[in-house]
Amino acid sequence: MEEVTPHVYSLDVKIDWFPQPFPPNVHLITDGGEGALIDAGFPDDESINTRMEWLRSIPGLSLKYIVITHHHFDHSSGAAKLRELTGAKIVMHKDEEPILKRAATQDVPSDMDVPKEHKEWVERTAQWRKEAAQAGADELVADDDTLNIGGLTLRMVHSPGHTAGHLSPFLEEGKVLFAGDNVLGMGTTVVPPPPHGDMFDYIASLKKMQSLDADLMCCGHGPLVREPNRKLQELIDHRQEREEQILALVGEGHDTVKSLVKEIYPELDKRILGMATSQVLSHLSKLEREGRAKTEGEGAEMRVEVAG
Ligand SMILES: [Zn+2]
Repeated sequence: MEEVTPHVYSLDVKIDWFPQPFPPNVHLITDGGEGALIDAGFPDDESINTRMEWLRSIPGLSLKYIVITHHHFDHSSGAAKLRELTGAKIVMHKDEEPILKRAATQDVPSDMDVPKEHKEWVERTAQWRKEAAQAGADELVADDDTLNIGGLTLRMVHSPGHTAGHLSPFLEEGKVLFAGDNVLGMGTTVVPPPPHGDMFDYIASLKKMQSLDADLMCCGHGPLVREPNRKLQELIDHRQEREEQILALVGEGHDTVKSLVKEIYPELDKRILGMATSQVLSHLSKLEREGRAKTEGEGAEMRVEVAG
């Protein structure tokens, strides 16, 4: 357990089998004997036991809330067990809970592409997706609702894009923004095309997060961000540059998604072809909504025209 600010701790548990460089972050906010977790991590024994030990090491702490930024199982699958052990209430945005429930039985895209040849991961993640669905909310929140933790105020900031009901809670004392997966400490997050994600909403969410003028940003994965607004601007710029690149390529005659993906990601590893295609589709859906592109068809075969 590491102190981030006098009221915020990182409960980072390393998992040796985790296929990505940064496992999901879990943060604890605490004041006056009360606590709230931001996200819940995985439900394996090591993660749960380590986090419970840390919680018990704070004298008199009563865990009041487990706030889930979004339904993806790397953030939510530990929540049901932690609720059982602490009596805390699970809090989620009202638009996210239906997706969490649906993800147990339907194919809802997740951040984590688990390679099929790794049987152990495939089995584990299938089980954890089911466990994630057990983490039904005790309290559904909407944008601008607040939770009190001791004398602290945690504002719920609805920040859709990565998922429809994504939350980026904002701790007013100390101006700490919990970005969830809208911002990763390293690299760029996945924004799936509608109906699962939305690039138009995502950019608007980044701007909304900037308007909070946070002093510190705790991300869903990876290290802390000390200059939140600069980082948010970098992400907005990166997406805008990609958009301009797409329009320019379409103008040059690359008029299918397949051909755009090939131009934009020339060195692409086949395993992430699906991810790359979905990013291009996501940008195109935003451009179409803004009247800047016209599309016909679906997926990699989609045909694109510059509009306006
Ligand atoms: Zn995610």
